[in-house]
Amino acid sequence: MTNYAAITSPAAAVTSIQQALNALGYNPGPIDGDFGRRTRKAAEDWLHNDGEAAAMQQVAAATSTGGMIYQGRARHAVDEIIVHCTATRPEWYAGRSVEEKAAEIRRWHVSDRGWTDIGYHYLIDRDGSVAKGRAETVVGAHVRGHNPGTISISLIGGFGSSETDAFSDNFTDAQDATLRDLIADIRGRTLIGKISGHNDYAQKACPGFTVSEWL
Ligand SMILES: [Zn+2]
Repeated sequence: MTNYAAITSPAAAVTSIQQALNALGYNPGPIDGDFGRRTRKAAEDWLHNDGEAAAMQQVAAATSTGGMIYQGRARHAVDEIIVHCTATRPEWYAGRSVEEKAAEIRRWHVSDRGWTDIGYHYLIDRDGSVAKGRAETVVGAHVRGHNPGTISISLIGGFGSSETDAFSDNFTDAQDATLRDLIADIRGRTLIGKISGHNDYAQKACPGFTVSEWL
């Protein structure tokens, strides 16, 4: 998971920080990618004055990223992750790789529904392995009325599930661990605070548990 990160080197990261500090009215000295005395002082002043959470929001506003920084690519500002399931049986495509399963789901979405690509951004297989679907930089197709501003993660499985089921009724421990890791990874590079499930927005069982309780 590296191709969406804007920060490609320590110097690029420092340059980005210096630009943000500058935009917020703190003087970091020359924008040179070197974390020197003046940059450190500006960063400390910024944290002291604004507090971390408020400052993060100011950086997002000042840099017009809406919370997610992509390098030279179209983007949609994201503030939420929505969890889904594929509603497939546990044994569906057993023995195939997560990439093969993603390809099959892409085929359903493109051929059967007429979409341009798979609707989800990520798939998590029964063994915890991850396949990328639609690029994060592209708005997904997963919840009517909530596609812009959200990233979708779909768990493989969940056939016959109910929204009142426990996570472990339909999914594996490996999926639980990977879902938590993936959410943490995405949150680590965005300002996403809200994690929800498809059933928070529609009369559906998907993802087959109540995300707020699982969290
Ligand atoms: Zn769903």
